[in-house]
Amino acid sequence: MTTEALLRKEMVAAAIAMNDQGLNQGTSGNLSVRLDDGGFLITPSGIPCDRLEPGDMVRMAADGACYRQPLAPSSEWRIHRDLLRERPEVGAVVHAHPTYATVLAIRGMAIPAVHYMIAAAGGSTIRCAPYATFGSQALSDHAVRALEGRLACLLANHGMIALGPSLERALWLAGEVEALARQYVLSLLLGGANVLPDDEIARVAALFADYGPKSKGS
Ligand code: 13P
Ligand code: ZN
Repeated sequence: MTTEALLRKEMVAAAIAMNDQGLNQGTSGNLSVRLDDGGFLITPSGIPCDRLEPGDMVRMAADGACYRQPLAPSSEWRIHRDLLRERPEVGAVVHAHPTYATVLAIRGMAIPAVHYMIAAAGGSTIRCAPYATFGSQALSDHAVRALEGRLACLLANHGMIALGPSLERALWLAGEVEALARQYVLSLLLGGANVLPDDEIARVAALFADYGPKSKGS
């Protein structure tokens, strides 16, 4: 099987996993993976994950050009194009509407360092990008800015984005961000959160250089 054929299968599995984990529901969310030629594959717009097939993934050029294909690309293709262009270290982009991250985003709140796992997202905060209409260039511009030096951000009144060198890593981080959001919301309900200092998050980030989901033996 070619690399592209494998990636298409992985994308279907990832979309299903996101629904199974409660990160998305219905047709919300989308994901993309960088290809060797500089272009990328992206999920089609508006297709529920249980109907997705590998051949449905839409191939786009690095500049977002989309040749005639049966399905339209995700309405958020600008976010995926711009992040893959601006962030050469990133191989996959995951966008989702999970409940707790979105509840914080509805309040326009960033996530502070309430748990050491925040270091997995690249810093001591997960910023919340300002609101803009879904699919707009303004939303993509806000997301690129909120993700500077980070691997995850919230999108006001919308959801969240997670990045990774691979789809597996981006999906893992999306789940960790939602766990952090849940922990933060619940601690606020108990009256407040103790926040870890920046130097501790820097220490954890150094330990995390080699941390993440691994296959056995690696
Ligand atoms: P698409 O189905 O077009 O990917 O849209 C889902 C979404 O989450 C838009 O922000
Ligand atoms: Zn969305």
